[in-house]
Amino acid sequence: MMNVYHFRDIEFRVPARYIELSARGFGAQGTVCAAYDTVSRQNVAIKKLSRPFQNVTHAKRAYREFKLMKLVNHKNIIGLLNAFTPQSTLEEFQDVYLVMELMDANLCQVIQMDLDHERMSYLLYQMLCGIKHLHSAGIIHRDLKPSNIVVKSDCTLKILDFGLARTAGTTFMMTPYVVTRYYRAPEVILGMGYKENVDIWSVGCIMGEMIRGGVLFPGTDHIDQWNKIIEQLGTPSSSFMARLQPTVRNYVENRPRYQGYAFDRLFPDVLFPSDSSEHSRLKASQARDLLSRMLVVDPEHRISVDQALVHSYIHVWYDESEVNAVSMKSLVSTSVKNLGVNNRTPAPGPYDHSVDEREHTVEQWKELIYQEVMEYEARTNNTDPVDGNAR
Ligand code: AMP
Repeated sequence: MMNVYHFRDIEFRVPARYIELSARGFGAQGTVCAAYDTVSRQNVAIKKLSRPFQNVTHAKRAYREFKLMKLVNHKNIIGLLNAFTPQSTLEEFQDVYLVMELMDANLCQVIQMDLDHERMSYLLYQMLCGIKHLHSAGIIHRDLKPSNIVVKSDCTLKILDFGLARTAGTTFMMTPYVVTRYYRAPEVILGMGYKENVDIWSVGCIMGEMIRGGVLFPGTDHIDQWNKIIEQLGTPSSSFMARLQPTVRNYVENRPRYQGYAFDRLFPDVLFPSDSSEHSRLKASQARDLLSRMLVVDPEHRISVDQALVHSYIHVWYDESEVNAVSMKSLVSTSVKNLGVNNRTPAPGPYDHSVDEREHTVEQWKELIYQEVMEYEARTNNTDPVDGNAR
């Protein structure tokens, strides 16, 4: 049995096991509701993907997110609990709902608050653990931002999405939502090669925003954003310039030269907790030191994830089992491999990047997603809690 709810003009059609739905978030990718699951007896978040089959970009992204959510298993990455569709045949298939762990707020809301060093460093530590886990699965995010990071009131944190696919040029989306690019690293903005520490830039932007209380580099477009970066951090070296594509290099080299500011000017003492205890001063100087190593334009000189995890500001939280958790589901479970899709391709090792390169029509992506959803339907059979029958 299905129950129907409406939020704004969006219909939520969910199995009867989910009750007490209330709207939580409206994003580019979908609408999120909080609900109570009477079967697992826990609060959950249900996300209805918005028109996942409106074009190839949406369909491919939906498939990628779905696959990765199933694959990755780490406490700082959102976990997928269930998936369902109200339609019962591939021909009718239209809506995808994903059920996840419920969190309390996204980081945009937390950034506004006056965070003490303990909370701030703990949030950053968890981001770094989640990012390291993604990297160990071969996933470099490149698009971390506060709206895609969620937290609970006990200060636990989870990353919600998996960022940009490896193949560029598919980012064009017909949505009324403006894509936030403020947290993207110079190498992404300038279309250069990148490595894992591309994600450290985003963490630096988020940390800087927590301290400053405003976005560090709020560009209206990539050019404006690049200007904001160099005005504050200074024009990068000629060895950085040498790695740019010729046309981009031409533009970048012809900008005015900026010296940039020292980090105690960019993040002055007044921005930090005002009690003048020795401990507080030490924490502020550690925080500033970490920022100065993360917000480095040239990735060759930027700190790595591993180095950030052992930095004095972060290391207090270090727990080997959180930092180096390698429990990729694909390594321990055969269920993923048994999916029809993966039977034709090698088991993900860990993430099968060929998904990023694959080209399919909307209809083909739809079929692949349908198979994934059906696998969940079979596994959990979305039992009706009232009479115990599958719907
Ligand atoms: P998304 O469509 O994934 O970008 O999510 C849009 C918004 O919904 C996020 O910014 C969060 O505020 C909220 N949200 C998404 N997933 C969850 C979750 N698992 N728990 C709580 N809130 C969430």
